Amino acid sequence: MYDVMIVGGGPAGMTAALYAARAGMKLLLLEGELIGGQASTTNRIENFPGFPGGTGGPELMMQFDAQLGQMDVYPQYEQVRELSLLGDVKKAVTKAGSYEARTVILAMGAARRRLGIPGEEQLNGRGISYCATCDGALYAGKRVAVVGGGHSAVEDTLYLAQRSDVLLIHRRDQLRAVSEDAQVALSHPRVQTAWNEQVISVDKNADGLLLTLQNSLDGAKHTELVSALFVAVGTDPKSDLIKDQVALTKDGYVQANEDTITSVPGVFVAGDLRAKPLKQVVTAVADGAVAATMTARYIIGG
Ligand code: NAP
Repeated sequence: MYDVMIVGGGPAGMTAALYAARAGMKLLLLEGELIGGQASTTNRIENFPGFPGGTGGPELMMQFDAQLGQMDVYPQYEQVRELSLLGDVKKAVTKAGSYEARTVILAMGAARRRLGIPGEEQLNGRGISYCATCDGALYAGKRVAVVGGGHSAVEDTLYLAQRSDVLLIHRRDQLRAVSEDAQVALSHPRVQTAWNEQVISVDKNADGLLLTLQNSLDGAKHTELVSALFVAVGTDPKSDLIKDQVALTKDGYVQANEDTITSVPGVFVAGDLRAKPLKQVVTAVADGAVAATMTARYIIGG
């Protein structure tokens, strides 16, 4: 029986693990895919304090992991398939086995949203990607498209434009992202923009991906041929496993204040999965620290 089971090994989960270990708790850190979560797929992180000039997302996450290793905490790489949160004993089931704990910190984060258009699922991984830093190098020297208008779309565009010509497609006539990077992306010589355009379907032919675009203003359609489409239209919370157990917002984020306490006793939430106004590494680590501290208090009090 663990004191705390932390589900998700992004910045929130890793920080929760660090604080739980330092508080002397017996902990299990479960991560189904990649340590560092979304931060590990972010090329540069410019706004994490203590790194003048910025740092690489994967490099920063490896430092988090190394710090855990110094405490003899090692993530267990298992995808959680079932979570039972409602009893006094919390349970997680993975392919390898099942685990029990007195408390749980939910730190599953969020994942890139799908466009939900014809061709998307079939071409996922065959030209359509949700991670520019993972797949961008495959298309060096080619023409690729990015869809979206937020900070992720801007970051993806700048990353891809180092090696590829980029068509940035946005459904409105101005970006949602307001930043210096956005200005740099828009004036980049390898970046072309398609304003007021929605991607409504994707096909693949011998030459690449054929995107059908529809103008948001007049409904006119045209096609664009690219080698890859990078989708950056926001994120959705990874709350499927817990949706009938913990109070969620209508968008599927876990309801909790800064104290990270959820609607279920002994269950806490940290990072992008928590409903909050600013989802960044710096707020994820703050949540992780608070959640582990609240967990320790719950155990002592209980
Ligand atoms: P976001 O800020 O929610 O932006 C999503 C973009 O996709 C918007 O421009 C939206 O258009 C567009 N969009 C949504 N659904 C669409 C659809 N079905 N078809 C076409 N376009 C669609 O998401 P994000 O860029 O992933 O960022 C998520 C959060 O992380 C934000 O809070 C962001 O600020 C933060 N973030 C911060 C940094 C940083 O600070 N360096 C980096 C990355 C992300 P509309 O504008 O028309 O709504």
